[in-house]
Amino acid sequence: MAERDVDLFVIGAGSGGVRAARIAASYGARVMIAEEFRVGGTCVIRGCVPKKLLVYASRFADEFEDAAGFGWTVGEPTFDWPTLIANKDREIARLEAAYIATLERWKVEIVKSRAVLEGAHTVRLMSNGARVSAERILIATGAWPHYGPKIPGLEHVISSNEALHLPELPRRIVIQGGGYIALEFASIFNGLGSEVTLIYRGENILRGFDDDVRAHLRNELRTRGINVLCGHTVAAIDKNGAEFVVHLSDKTAIAADKVMFAIGRRPNVMGLGIENLGCKIHAHGGIEVDEFSRTAVPSVYAVGDVTNRVNLTPVAIREGHAFADTVYGGRPTPVDHGNVPTAVFTEPEVGVIGLTEAQARERLAKVDVYKTSFRPMKATLSGRATRSFMKLLVDGLTDRVVGCHIVGPDAGELIQVIGVAVKMGATKADFDATMAVHPTAAEELVTLREKAASYVREAAE
Ligand code: NDP
Repeated sequence: MAERDVDLFVIGAGSGGVRAARIAASYGARVMIAEEFRVGGTCVIRGCVPKKLLVYASRFADEFEDAAGFGWTVGEPTFDWPTLIANKDREIARLEAAYIATLERWKVEIVKSRAVLEGAHTVRLMSNGARVSAERILIATGAWPHYGPKIPGLEHVISSNEALHLPELPRRIVIQGGGYIALEFASIFNGLGSEVTLIYRGENILRGFDDDVRAHLRNELRTRGINVLCGHTVAAIDKNGAEFVVHLSDKTAIAADKVMFAIGRRPNVMGLGIENLGCKIHAHGGIEVDEFSRTAVPSVYAVGDVTNRVNLTPVAIREGHAFADTVYGGRPTPVDHGNVPTAVFTEPEVGVIGLTEAQARERLAKVDVYKTSFRPMKATLSGRATRSFMKLLVDGLTDRVVGCHIVGPDAGELIQVIGVAVKMGATKADFDATMAVHPTAAEELVTLREKAASYVREAAE
């Protein structure tokens, strides 16, 4: 067999692709990686990282206000959006350079080009038409914002991609969607001083999360001045000079300076050439893979959002790493997609792991529910109208904690740590045996003694 140009060709230099390329190279594979935009992918360039920087910026507003209750006199704070965006862009450029340096250190060849599959072992670089032969090909092309059905004025709508690069802070913004991105950007713009209207089609935001979390967060967002309109969709958008008129499904209209949709993302499978090869597309739109991220074509693998499994950066990284361990490290490593902790960086934050109450009641014979809602200590002096929420779901037969749900400051940080205990199979007794750290908010989780509810499933007839 003639030697191929490379052992592994990776399409897409995002979180999953970069990790797979680096680890495969560390095992001695000759690796080439193609990226048509910027190295770092969605998370680094236009997702998690720039978003979190904007989240930090947005939270200063509360800090300035809250300071008064603690004796501080703060002058009228002013905010400059172009400064924030320029500083954020500088940090993203630094991170991109760090990603490139890491790949180069491992002798991964980076090609700045779109790449498409021409065969089970052949990739064509669209920048110069060159063909590269590879023993294996890894598709890690991620996902892209979806804009929904074609409605009048859809061309005026921006996605989170553009929201991170607006020339100025919109005074009024309408955001459609009730998931991670819509809610995070609603909080960001609200904190920075924009008037925010959130349009969500269903009954309540964050479908799929625990119902108490959804209700609590919605309340908090409303208290902070976000106009949350559930049971509505955007029907049309008119441009009226510099402003937009957003027509809703109930025939009402809202004026706005920007209209953003965050109504899900679709796997980037189009135009890759995989249809002719025999790779299968799952009903959910992602490339179908087995537990080792292998497609129906034995030499072609796929990781990350393009497979539409659990669309989170750390999951893509884990899938990329596991692929390299499996194929080049001689250690077959399936990825465990169960009990993945996750956070929504709204204000206040949401952090969750495991089952929701509804899921637990559906799956388990007996479920014990522990929950609490309390005023965070800082809010006592600041006078801020906010409450935190915590909930533990316990398997009533084994005492295992099967779900933990938090809404409140640092919920993302908390759920990362609690995630270890839940993943290890900690019981409620283990939580109870853990000494509280006082005074913290997290101590509530180890001092929840009274059941809020207990459900026993009726035995089937
Ligand atoms: P989500 O899937 O989280 O939310 C999509 C939202 O849009 C839902 O509220 C959905 O409603 C609504 N929607 C879908 N289609 C339409 C439509 N045609 N008209 C009106 N509304 C519609 O997607 P996002 O875009 O917010 O985020 C994409 C993915 O990125 C997430 O799934 C998440 O995995 C990841 N992400 C993770 C983050 C984190 O970890 N902090 C941050 C940002 C993104 P319904 O619920 O009724 O279907």
